[in-house]
Amino acid sequence: MSRVRFAPGSLRGFVIVLKIEDRIFTNLSGKGSPLLSSAKKRGAWKKTKDLLDLGAEKIIDEVKKSGLRGRGGAGFPTGLKWSFMPKKSSQPVYLVVNADESEPGTCKDRDILRYEPHMLLEGTLLAGRAINASVAYIYIRGEFYNEYLILKEALEEAYKEGLIGKNACKSGYNLDVFIHRGAGAYICGEETAQLESIEGKKGFPRMKPPFPASVGLFGCPTTINNVETIAVVPDILDRGGEWFASLGKPNNTGTKIFCISGHVNNPCNVEEEMGISLRELIEKHAGGVRGGWDNLLAVIPGGSSVPLIPKSICNTVEMDFDSLKAVQSGLGTAAVIVMDKSTDIIAAIEKLSHFYMHESCGQCTPCREGTGWMWRIMKRMVTGDIQHDEIDKLLDLTIQVEGHTICALGDAAAWPIQGLIRHFRDVIEDRISYNCSDR
Ligand code: SF4
Repeated sequence: MSRVRFAPGSLRGFVIVLKIEDRIFTNLSGKGSPLLSSAKKRGAWKKTKDLLDLGAEKIIDEVKKSGLRGRGGAGFPTGLKWSFMPKKSSQPVYLVVNADESEPGTCKDRDILRYEPHMLLEGTLLAGRAINASVAYIYIRGEFYNEYLILKEALEEAYKEGLIGKNACKSGYNLDVFIHRGAGAYICGEETAQLESIEGKKGFPRMKPPFPASVGLFGCPTTINNVETIAVVPDILDRGGEWFASLGKPNNTGTKIFCISGHVNNPCNVEEEMGISLRELIEKHAGGVRGGWDNLLAVIPGGSSVPLIPKSICNTVEMDFDSLKAVQSGLGTAAVIVMDKSTDIIAAIEKLSHFYMHESCGQCTPCREGTGWMWRIMKRMVTGDIQHDEIDKLLDLTIQVEGHTICALGDAAAWPIQGLIRHFRDVIEDRISYNCSDR
């Protein structure tokens, strides 16, 4: 249960603090071994057979009750997503676990893979049961080689113990799990590109509809879920959906792993309750902003694709889907990138523009052409070598790209620039004026 207390240092006054007994990830620091004997001591695989025996409908109901929203960025309700899968299918049904974590600033799934792989495997089994899958693929980012080795070892242990595979946990349910390594393309984190990649093709996102629940992997019904989403399922089923829903805020329930990086004294991954204030999160867990809170310039609160927020908003904003949407940003992957006043904010966003241009698969024109165009303007903006009216032209360009592409990479390229112009137009104007006076 959440506990609300008065925090003298907080501008908002009240903060949410996660109790130790409500933590789901007890080995996030990596002090314990990731392997089976230690994972079992931490509670993994304890009641799996009983949970499998609940059956698909009850598992989905419990997850719906929990209010769990996908932890990969989009925040779609997980139970609802599972309920879209056909109840009976003449074709094979697949579960794909998206471990292709590539969003700059994000490193939460990596820690689950290397420190808590059995939580992920147990969650995969239960999620597979919920959608009646016979095969699950865990698509792991190619660069995560050490994590792949750990996960592979954990999977071998699970097979050896009869936890996964035929008659998993002696439940009568069969699920084979395969690990599929990616080859380094950011776009393969997009769910339909990931399906193409598993099928052995280039990672090109597909047009939707049809959605993967009806036409997914190899043309069969498929659900794709993020690592963190899957890894919390055993705890939700074991402790009950109501317990999970009692944490956080309505429509933004449960706990979340936040990745705090950038200009803080102690960059870290930490599990906290949804809805914790950003300031509390940074000061309590990351040792505060380098040089103190007043030295804060801006924060990208949800991985590189969401718009930044300036200090004035950081002072009071809470870390959940709805609160961040209300300030025209997003929770995304909950990767908190902190920038202090030493940051050249234009150059920082220019780096992100370059990243998205580089990672565009080139399938659709607004993204292929637009990401390069945006970056070229951003590059000149860093030195102030643009005309004043180009700021609005750039903004217009981002609006032309946003929402007009096959996948969300177009949006991801547009939003950081929109955030920059929305909150730091004066910095851009000053840069142009300085450049002009310097000629
Ligand atoms: Fe490819 Fe970009 Fe189109 Fe996505 S939006 S399909 S990355 S070109």
